[in-house]
Amino acid sequence: MDIKTVGIVGAGQMGNGIAHVFAVAGYDVLLNDISQDNLDQAIAVIDRNLERQVSRDKISAEDKAAALARIATTVTLTDLGGSDLIIEAATERETVKQAIFEDLLPHLKPETILTSNTSSISITRLASRTDRPEKFMGFHFMNPVPVMQLVELIRGIATDDATYQTLLKVVESLGKTAASAEDFPAFIVNRILMPMINEAVYTLYEGVGSVKSIDESMKLGANHPMGPLELADFIGLDTCLAIMNVLHDGLADTKYRPCPLLTKYVEAGWLGRKTGRGFYDYRGEVPVPTR
Ligand code: NAD
Repeated sequence: MDIKTVGIVGAGQMGNGIAHVFAVAGYDVLLNDISQDNLDQAIAVIDRNLERQVSRDKISAEDKAAALARIATTVTLTDLGGSDLIIEAATERETVKQAIFEDLLPHLKPETILTSNTSSISITRLASRTDRPEKFMGFHFMNPVPVMQLVELIRGIATDDATYQTLLKVVESLGKTAASAEDFPAFIVNRILMPMINEAVYTLYEGVGSVKSIDESMKLGANHPMGPLELADFIGLDTCLAIMNVLHDGLADTKYRPCPLLTKYVEAGWLGRKTGRGFYDYRGEVPVPTR
């Protein structure tokens, strides 16, 4: 199927990034959220991020203007009905996602492909509640979307090959690289990354190292561009904990048990960069370790 128009549900940090890369690649984008305020904020972020790409000579000023002109916004979900491809990037709660697909279904063309950007919810289960599980896939972008090369393509048990092949071409057209993953908890990247981050928190919890020594060890000793605790703060500690819980529940293996110290930080509301404090305190000039 030839994809020209893309409907994106949820204009948060992922939704705005996804809208950005599709618009730059020449697709017509219709972006939906629950309030016009959220949509206006998303457009402001896209504008800023496109400007950064112009200043780094990645795109021209004309490309930026053309990309912005390709993005329209709406608070009415059913306006997305005419899209060739739907990308759901709303809040990570299954009931929210289910309700979105239920409301959209009666308004869609029969050939429209449905996808979700979920980091952890079962694609097979989300798909089974729609009228087209064979045209449903996990479409997992990485944060920040305009920068990160990888997109995970997750087939549900019923996804057909035509849908997979179509999305593979879409990923190529964005200039990104696809990795195929089966529909098991946390897919590939988070299945490997989150236990490493969780282990770094255990290393801190057990006093093996300080925040600074753990991050420096992994940067200088394993050549990671960011330390695991710094990275956890960037992702959001609530998100890290939610993914560890999905792994623990879904695979029923104690090796995935979330570190009590990670739970403690989340209970304190110290969720990382987005709340100003996590393993580092970001409220001053430079980040200061909190342990
Ligand atoms: P976010 O909180 O920044 O954005 C979610 C947006 O969805 C908000 O603007 C919210 O208003 C909107 N929303 C909620 N209910 C809605 C509804 N019924 N209709 C329309 N919009 C609705 O979250 P995010 O980080 O952008 O995450 C979105 C999705 O992407 C989640 O499924 C998450 O697991 C996934 N994801 C996140 C990351 C990450 O690093 N943050 C990475 C990959 C995937």
